[in-house]
Amino acid sequence: MLRVVATSDARPMPTRREPPPFRRVEVARVEDRSPRLRRVTFTGAELEGFQVDEPAASVRVLLPGPDSSELVIPTWNGNEFLLPDGRRPVIRTFTPRRCDEPGRELDVEIVVHGGGAASAWATGAGEGDPAAVSGPGRGYEIDPAATGFLLAGDETALPAVGQLLEALPAGVPVAVHVEVATPEGRLDLPDHPGATVEWHELPAGAGPGDALVAAVMDAEIPDGTRVWVAGEAAAVQRIRKHLFDQRGLDRSQATVRGYWKRGRAASS
Ligand SMILES: Cc1cc2nc3c(=O)[nH]c(=O)nc-3n(C[C@H](O)[C@H](O)[C@H](O)COP(=O)(O)OP(=O)(O)OC[C@H]3O[C@@H](n4cnc5c(N)ncnc54)[C@H](O)[C@@H]3O)c2cc1C
Repeated sequence: MLRVVATSDARPMPTRREPPPFRRVEVARVEDRSPRLRRVTFTGAELEGFQVDEPAASVRVLLPGPDSSELVIPTWNGNEFLLPDGRRPVIRTFTPRRCDEPGRELDVEIVVHGGGAASAWATGAGEGDPAAVSGPGRGYEIDPAATGFLLAGDETALPAVGQLLEALPAGVPVAVHVEVATPEGRLDLPDHPGATVEWHELPAGAGPGDALVAAVMDAEIPDGTRVWVAGEAAAVQRIRKHLFDQRGLDRSQATVRGYWKRGRAASS
């Protein structure tokens, strides 16, 4: 959230609310959920009190720089985190997929897409590797009056979709649409008695999110359905416009979140 404070020369300087402090953790183990999604289990005494109460929440993960195995905790300058040498640290946002607070464990599941600092880190991560986590950020509030749900996302949304399937009421239909970049991105999702899961592979030459956009445009959305969407920012923007401008959904009926931007590294 942006705030504006007066500086000594009376020029307003935008500042943001400081995120929760980083908690040092280390990798306890890694497991491949699929060739495209790596589960990393963090552990550490500083996870005491780290609790996640809602599905599809977020956690900031601080990683060592690409050319180092040492983790340096950055400081907040009022607007962003910076390392002592002025460089930006590697901080990425993930879904806190499983949090066992008494056991001091936290799982995140990271898409191995080949082009980013977190993806590269996850590929080589091993027991004892240092990291730090800050959060959690707010998750999804389930509307108990909803008569059905539509969940749509790409591979980055799979951890959140899994959590949502575990949390949604058993008595309502849940239509799930997941876009995978390659067939091996598919994986087993938690059982939900009302769920139908459709996997959409990206056709050759299509851009990220194209198959997801098409799936949501084709989907039936009966009255009373709540919609949750997450994926590539430009693609979910197209979905947002479709839901609100073309279908005329009320804003309260749909949550649409950009999880990453094509061609742009995430910033902290
Ligand atoms: C609330 C929230 C929850 C999220 N949960 C998860 C999660 O559980 N698991 C997860 O893997 N991601 C999740 N993300 C998305 C994740 O933060 C981004 O994908 C992040 O950019 C990955 O960092 P990176 O260092 O690998 O790539 P970056 O350094 O950020 O980007 C480098 C390049 O890779 C591209 N890129 C980034 N992500 C992808 C991708 N998935 N596929 C293809 N190209 C990509 C960028 O466009 C850029 O060109 C979440 C994001 C948010 C906001």
